[in-house]
Amino acid sequence: MVQLLENPAQDSKNKLERLVQEGQKNSSIQMESISVKGYEQVIKVSDKKAGLTAIIAIHDTTLGPALGGIRIHPYANFNDALEDVLRLAKGMTHKSAVAGVGLGGGKSVIIADPKKQKTPELLLSFGAAVEALGGIYICAEDVGCTTEDVKIVRKSTKYVVGLPHDKSSGDPGPFTAWGTYRGIQATLKKLYGSESLEGRSIAIQGLGNVGAQLTEFLFWAGAELYLSDIDMEKAERMALKFGAKVVPANQIAKIECDIFSPCALGAILNDTTIPALRCRGIAGSANNQLHRDHHADLIRERGIVYAPDFVINAGGILNVTAEIEDAGYSPKLSRQKVHEIYDTLLAIYEIAEKNRESTHNAALALAEYRIKYNIGKRVIPPTFHHTIEN
Ligand code: NAD
Repeated sequence: MVQLLENPAQDSKNKLERLVQEGQKNSSIQMESISVKGYEQVIKVSDKKAGLTAIIAIHDTTLGPALGGIRIHPYANFNDALEDVLRLAKGMTHKSAVAGVGLGGGKSVIIADPKKQKTPELLLSFGAAVEALGGIYICAEDVGCTTEDVKIVRKSTKYVVGLPHDKSSGDPGPFTAWGTYRGIQATLKKLYGSESLEGRSIAIQGLGNVGAQLTEFLFWAGAELYLSDIDMEKAERMALKFGAKVVPANQIAKIECDIFSPCALGAILNDTTIPALRCRGIAGSANNQLHRDHHADLIRERGIVYAPDFVINAGGILNVTAEIEDAGYSPKLSRQKVHEIYDTLLAIYEIAEKNRESTHNAALALAEYRIKYNIGKRVIPPTFHHTIEN
């Protein structure tokens, strides 16, 4: 007698299909609008059955549909989540405007512990809410949400980018890392008149998806590296591989170096860290590096050249945007655009110097100018090339 072997992958696929069908039949999702000044739409999404509480913030769609990742995080309360999603959505508007991708700014947060509460039911329910918005918001992965998770979200909405398959752009991390590398080169060029990394010292905070890849690019270009991560084992492993020095996580911002590269958390440039900085430039991938906008002025007063985060870390958005082009995704096109982050930053550095303002303010002014005059506005609507099966 032939014994049938269980196939866990097929079982979980079947379960997912069943959940999709059930969800479509008896949706228990509630969407409630929250009025926030300066934002086009802010929506609280709840689905008790699926254990979902989420917020979708659409900041500005002047230049195109709002694109922004799904952050899954166990926020202490609803207000903390709201504050975070508003800040992040606005940042996406500025990032997309400067990058010229024909998109607006949005973001979503799901209030849940990604290690314990991230179920297929929750992701499918969230996807259904995105679908209900009819394409004004396009989602992607973000902190706490993997590309495998967006594959599940995709089962209930087509408005998703960055899926791990051949019609999509996949993991944006390497493109963000290359954009950050180009940003470091631009910052060195501004500081020393040469973009060469040979012998330049770079202190990297955070060796995740972006930081690890950046480390490798910098190593091959001849840089002296200081590495830090809260995961000390990871930092030590990488230091061994790249002949780098390990620095404790709470010391990395104080290292004397050419460039400090924050690639971990936001708000790292604040009242405490700025006076202690001993770098000549700051160029890293982390989102929302400034604790408050005025910290950009403090950095300028200290004579440190700062690469505005939403300009230097646009590699990911440039790459995911390429997949909604009518002609389909082309990594070569993405590569070219990410490469140009160098030129954008140099232009911002020049404007800031001429206007005697912080580089952050110069970049914000550029974003607002482009929005005001519809520069880079999307003409052809996005094409979603993937099918429901993948
Ligand atoms: P990740 O989660 O893969 O890596 C973050 C790393 O930082 C982890 O290794 C973590 O252990 C470490 N870390 C956390 N707190 C730290 C601390 N206090 N000191 C030192 N290390 C710490 O994230 P990622 O995808 O590499 O992204 C890094 C940053 O860049 C994030 O701020 C993210 O929002 C931003 N960003 C990423 C992309 C992308 O394409 N992945 C795009 C734009 C912006």
